[in-house]
Amino acid sequence: MKKRILVTGGAGFIGSHLCEKLLNQGNEVICVDNFFSGSKQNVIHLFDNHYFEIIRHDIAFPLYIEVDEIYNLACPASPIYYSIDPIQTTKTSVMGTINMLGLAKRLKIKILQASTSEIYGDPEVHPQPESYCGNVNPIGPRACYDEGKRCAETLFFDYYRQLKIKIKVIRIFNTYGPKMQPDDGRVVSNFIVQALKNKDITIYGDGSQSRSFCYIDDLVEGMIKMMNSGDDFVGPVNLGNPKEFSILELAKKIIKLTNSKSKIIYEVLPDNDPKQRQPNINLAKKQLKWKPKIELDEGLKKTISYFKRILS
Ligand code: NAD
Ligand code: UDP
Repeated sequence: MKKRILVTGGAGFIGSHLCEKLLNQGNEVICVDNFFSGSKQNVIHLFDNHYFEIIRHDIAFPLYIEVDEIYNLACPASPIYYSIDPIQTTKTSVMGTINMLGLAKRLKIKILQASTSEIYGDPEVHPQPESYCGNVNPIGPRACYDEGKRCAETLFFDYYRQLKIKIKVIRIFNTYGPKMQPDDGRVVSNFIVQALKNKDITIYGDGSQSRSFCYIDDLVEGMIKMMNSGDDFVGPVNLGNPKEFSILELAKKIIKLTNSKSKIIYEVLPDNDPKQRQPNINLAKKQLKWKPKIELDEGLKKTISYFKRILS
């Protein structure tokens, strides 16, 4: 059955892939975005589709529309963008989430929250299961994002318990792929752009910190599976690729795959930068029958092709 689906943050990296997939599955999609960290360019190829609409709107203000389902993704996700205006970042996660939950309440519809592995902070438990409550500095430079997202989860669960709203909460781990902004400062896009330009590859710290990288198509599949799973399973559920790499390993891989002449240089590690991050995805495997399929090398090749195209 064709649904009319609202995707907030639909012009961002993940949102634009999600909009495309939902349209391909025969749905109508309304993308709401204020273009703070996303761009029309990400969804311009969807403009000819009569079932796609785009609205410029800041979700920190109420929104009155009629839809059947909401994916709430609006929020800058890269440290560079979310630190430009940390107060707005918290407002988006807190006031924006209240507005979207209010919309779900009025329409009696299901709403999915794109939460993040950042709610685990700099984890003392490794890999991180959903039951781990996290280690977050509430007053640090990443707090606007981490605590904003934690509060959004709190709101989701209070609306669920108190008002019986149908909720779904996913915790997304580092995701990469085409349509990341070349200047958003995230590690995969930074390294690929630097490598393609034969510029120095900037490792922050000694490169021993680790991350686990999930290719965008795998993530989008998991998000839709979560939305379509039974109402009893509300999450939170980790979505990510459990294969862990050090940042130095990633840099070497990207240099090799791009045949780059770049040298690796070492810069200061930002404050509160998590030392390690790896999802435990047993819950997603069990409840959603989901696990990522795309290996890092394969995903990096696709991402490198994209950046080659946009930088040429
Ligand atoms: P992104 O910055 O590319 O996309 C976010 C989108 O939200 C942008 O288009 C931006 O303009 C829009 N936006 C920001 N504030 C808004 C507001 N107040 N009103 C309306 N639109 C607003 O980031 P992304 O990587 O696509 O991330 C999407 C979501 O997934 C975010 O909520 C992020 O926290 C979450 N997430 C992403 C990752 C990742 O690795 N990319 C990891 C964990 C969680
Ligand atoms: N990083 C790096 N060089 C860069 C960009 C990032 O060494 O040019 C490091 C960063 O310090 C962090 C890791 O790569 O340890 C992942 O950073 P990103 O911002 O992509 O994601 P997050 O820290 O939010 O997981």
